[in-house]
Amino acid sequence: MRLRNIPGAEQALLEYPTFVEQPTDYKTRWHERFQNDHPIHVEIGCGKGRFITTLAAKYPEINFIAIELKAEVVLRAAQRTEHRPIPNLAFVQYNAAQLTDLFGPGEISRIYLNFSDPWPKKRHHKRRLTYSSFLQLYKQVLKPDGELHVKTDNEHLFEFTLNQLSEALFQMRHITFDLHHSPFAEENVLTEYEERFSARGQRIYRVEAICRP
Ligand code: SAM
Repeated sequence: MRLRNIPGAEQALLEYPTFVEQPTDYKTRWHERFQNDHPIHVEIGCGKGRFITTLAAKYPEINFIAIELKAEVVLRAAQRTEHRPIPNLAFVQYNAAQLTDLFGPGEISRIYLNFSDPWPKKRHHKRRLTYSSFLQLYKQVLKPDGELHVKTDNEHLFEFTLNQLSEALFQMRHITFDLHHSPFAEENVLTEYEERFSARGQRIYRVEAICRP
């Protein structure tokens, strides 16, 4: 993601009530942060936050946690909530490779991966957020029958993802090779990358995968 470096992004983030400074403190206790027992949905690599803030406003009965690696990007996402506090939304700056620092077994009902970096070189495939080691992490924190929803514009990454999900024994459903011309288009919430790619006429791929114990 190309973004100008925002000096002092880490410091600036502390001003935003949606930002969680010490997210590991809430492992197994996120209901205390949200002050309710509603299901938790997590987006990994939320970018500038359009998707997750739209969902959080639309579904107040779900708690949403957005995880993003880069402080300057999380800041852009948190800034979306500046004039519109959203109580069921939390932003976390963290590396998803350490997801189990943040969540206990079965704490999450759904994970979203939207337009994750494709890492095209074979030697970098282990960095893909749908590589088997990541899928094992997701299994640890998802409830039985918890869901993983993946969207991408990258055909190679999508094919790789379907294979990894199959090997990890996720059950797949609602697979589409052209989301915007599918029955799932009506409910679809756009991300920043999705808007850009689809404006260029690129097809969007999507799968829902169910975590079987
Ligand atoms: N999901 C957004 C969208 O669709 O507009 C952003 C997509 S962007 C290509 C991928 C984002 O994932 C970047 O903001 C990147 O910093 C973040 N990311 C990559 N690896 C990550 C990781 N291991 N943990 C958390 N975030 C990560």
